This record gives sequence, C-alpha cells and structure tokens, in this order.
Amino acid sequence: MEVAQTIESIRYLVKATRRRGGKIGLVPTMGALHVGHVSLIEAARKDCDFVVVSIFVNPTQFGRGEDFEKYPRPLEADLEICRKAGVDAVFAPASEVMYPGENLTWVTVEKLTRPLCGRCRPGHFRGVATVCTKLFNIVGPDVAYFGQKDAQQAVTIRRLVRDLNMPLEIVVCPTVREPSGLAVSSRNQYLSEQQKKDAAQIYKALQECRRMIDAGQTSPKRIIGRMREILQQVPSMEIEYVSIVDAETLETAGRIAGRVLVAVAVRLGSTRLIDNILVDAGR
Ligand code: AMP
Repeated sequence: MEVAQTIESIRYLVKATRRRGGKIGLVPTMGALHVGHVSLIEAARKDCDFVVVSIFVNPTQFGRGEDFEKYPRPLEADLEICRKAGVDAVFAPASEVMYPGENLTWVTVEKLTRPLCGRCRPGHFRGVATVCTKLFNIVGPDVAYFGQKDAQQAVTIRRLVRDLNMPLEIVVCPTVREPSGLAVSSRNQYLSEQQKKDAAQIYKALQECRRMIDAGQTSPKRIIGRMREILQQVPSMEIEYVSIVDAETLETAGRIAGRVLVAVAVRLGSTRLIDNILVDAGR
C-alpha cells in the first residue's frame, strides 16, 4: 500500500490504473477509521481495480466551537486498517496541501443543505461539498463511496455530482451499527460507557418509528412525538432535531408516504450524534 501526502503523488499513483482503463474507487474519510469505514472500503474493493482512501480532517466543514482540534487523528492505526482491508493507496494530505492559501472558491448545494444538520451547523455542507469536489478533482475516481449514516451528506454529494456533471458514480453503503444498535462513529470515542448505553436509545426511537409506519401510522407528528418520548427517557440527552423528510428532496413530510428519511441529531454531554433510517412507506 502506498501513502501519498501530495496531490502530485496520489495523481501519479492512480495514473497507471486509469491508463489501463481500470476502475478507480475513492473512499473519502476523516480518519479514526472503524468498521463503518471498512464496509465502504470492502464495497470499493469488490467493484474497483484500485482503491484510494483519503484521510483528511477537513477544517472548512467544522464550525467555530466544534471539535476540529480534538478530532482523533490516529494515523498509524488507520494505515494498518487500510493495509488489512486491501487498500491500494491512502491520500493523507496536510491542511496546507488542500488549502495552500485563502480559499476563494466554494461549492454550495442549495436547498438540500438547509434543513436537518444544515440548520445546526451553518457552513458545514459548504465545507463538505468543497472538499469532496477537490478530492474528486485530485483523485479522479470512477466511483466514490459514502455511508448512509451521514444521509444528508450522501444526498448532497449525489446532487453535486449530478448538477456539475462530474464523471463519477456515488455509491451509498448501509449504516454499520454496534450490537446495541448505536451507529458506529469516530465520535463515539468521546462517549463514556454510560453515555454509550444511553446513545443506544437513538436506535430504539428509530425502530419505534419504523414499527409505527409499518403499522400504518401516517402522521409524522404522532411518530415524532413518540420518538421524542423515547429519547427523553435519557434525561441527559439533548434533542437537536427529530425529523421525517422526503428521502430525495429532504423536505418535511406532511404525511408519511413513499420513501422517507427519519433523522435524529442529539447531544450527549458535549458530543453530537446523528443517526437515521430510510423507510419505504409504500403509500
Ligand atoms: P467520516 O470519517 O466520519 O467523515 O466518514 C467517512 C465516510 O464513512 C462517510 O461517507 C460516512 O458516512 C461513512 N461512515 C461513517 N460511519 C459509518 C457507519 N457507521 N456505517 C457506514 N458508513 C459510515
């Protein structure tokens, strides 16, 4: 496995595969790799001839007061995980490589980035869309892999690629969970054992939502009310949002019909956690 820290070197590494007409897969990450990331790497490994994992804690997607400084950066362990997973090349640039001076060009995806996390994290998706555009331009993948865990990010990147005619396919892989149901996340490292147990309540609320929809409930208000009750069983859990939106447009669902995204964001102490499920109400 090769490790590239510069744009020239990662471009050089993918060149041979591109010349041969091989398929290049990119898994963009911020590192602190876990089984969720590995599932994306495995999907890429299956489809592609050359798999690149990028590891970059992107400063422009963090807001003021967020966890950019304390975000875990265990590079050696990450490289070992990549090696074991059969990655061909890791692109791990320094901030100065990705943003060598003042950045004047930004990519903004409208509408889709306004609700849900967009409301609580202004500028976040502008940072995400910009860094993904840069990574796509640097690596030139045929396919890029994202996780359903970050549903709004996946929808936004799909739209970005479509609107800007970028020549790559976006594949979204299912959320990998702990046995408790808690979605695996690099940020789970911030949680105490008790908080981890408490955090499992998020998935309980999501499952209850699925049960209600399966039982024929069509009122988002009723479902959200019940989900909030379940989340509030953990007194220290601060609810940022519980939303049911159209899975494609991310507009608030007035009534449960078709494919809906049920999304939750909470805070446990200083840790922000998000999770979601997609439900096809089939009505
Ligand atoms: P991150 O390093 O947190 O920016 O995540 C990198 C990619 O891994 C994103 O596309 C995430 O959606 C995806 N990802 C993170 N956690 C999970 C998970 N538990 N299951 C599946 N994909 C995940």
